[in-house]
Amino acid sequence: MKTAIKVIETLKEAGFQAYMVGGAVRDFQLGKIPQDVDVASSASPHQVKALFKRTVDTGIEHGTVLVLLDGEGIEVTTFRTDGSYSDNRRPDSVEFVQSLEEDLMRRDFTINAMAMTEQLDIIDPFGGKDDLKKQIIRAVGDPDQRFQEDALRMLRAVRFSGQLDFVIEENTVHSIQRHAPLIRTIAVERLKAELDKIFANPNTQKSMAYLKTSNLTAFLPAGFLFETDWTLYHPTGKSVYGWFYLLHKQNQPFSEVRDYRFSNEEKRLIEKSLELAKLEFWDQWTFYQYSIDQLEMASHARSKMLDPAAAKKRLPIQSKSDLAASGLDLMRWSGDRSGPWLKTWLEKLEKKIVYGELENDKELIKDWFLHEYHRHT
Ligand code: ATP
Ligand code: MG
Repeated sequence: MKTAIKVIETLKEAGFQAYMVGGAVRDFQLGKIPQDVDVASSASPHQVKALFKRTVDTGIEHGTVLVLLDGEGIEVTTFRTDGSYSDNRRPDSVEFVQSLEEDLMRRDFTINAMAMTEQLDIIDPFGGKDDLKKQIIRAVGDPDQRFQEDALRMLRAVRFSGQLDFVIEENTVHSIQRHAPLIRTIAVERLKAELDKIFANPNTQKSMAYLKTSNLTAFLPAGFLFETDWTLYHPTGKSVYGWFYLLHKQNQPFSEVRDYRFSNEEKRLIEKSLELAKLEFWDQWTFYQYSIDQLEMASHARSKMLDPAAAKKRLPIQSKSDLAASGLDLMRWSGDRSGPWLKTWLEKLEKKIVYGELENDKELIKDWFLHEYHRHT
């Protein structure tokens, strides 16, 4: 926040208005240390760029410039409204405006529509402070209109209910129920980003209850999956865990949720963990083959909790490259040329070592190999 205040002071010295806005103002009043602090200002992107040495054009067409200062990045956005919305998702155009109040009016919920001066005075035209105290998520102005402008806000309300452990105000919930079908107009990337935040926050159950009562599950891709029993879900701070949990719980394959466009890394982690969670017995070979992340995730689904990192550490080797003998050694010792036999015998050796039936020592491996190989060929 110190850096944001510095940025505000520079802007004000140059004759512009500037305030901290959005989530940071909300979190500050809740006694949390705000992560990224956004600044709203009357300065145009061009004027902001002229005032600071290092800036990045992160969203100039929306009026946003990232100011780099003291090893931090502060997003400075010119006061704006969101123009008209013809498609329930993104504003067709943004329009720069003169006053802070107009900028705050375009924001989604009262608790997100406050500003704060560098002296830490709060500007609160929509009763956000009061709603913070009452722990309520309430749309700014007419909820119907706000959800028609941008349907993602419905999912954001559900996300904040869990993130903050707040309730959603009655009119706002009813409006979501009426407008739930509009969620189909939102790009999956934006949906997934909110769902990821729901799975990572400590109150997934609460958000999921709202997701269902607000009728959004009926219109989200694979929405029925979200209606699982979340009582045994213990968030780990990792969003992939939520996706794993719901698929495992309902015995569904990864393909059921692939519409959400996961990264290859997420996909692999989820798929491997699902596979692992179905294995009845885990032994050394299991610990050897699966990564710590995969083992940890699948462990949550089993009654016996264990420490996969420790179990992995106890293994004689961690990967093929730790083997004291190579394919080349096997070829030399056997006198045979490369072929399918090599892969088979390397795997045999790997298993033997992992199970602790043979010491990972070159001479001992040679003895074992020559003895066994000749017996089989
Ligand atoms: P978080 O703690 O998750 O970052 P946040 O409130 O900062 O929460 P952001 O998505 O970072 O949420 O958005 C920053 C601010 O921009 C919000 O507080 C809100 O004022 C405004 N905002 C973001 N998305 C929307 C939207 N879809 N409609 C209206 N206002 C929005
Ligand atoms: Mg934010």
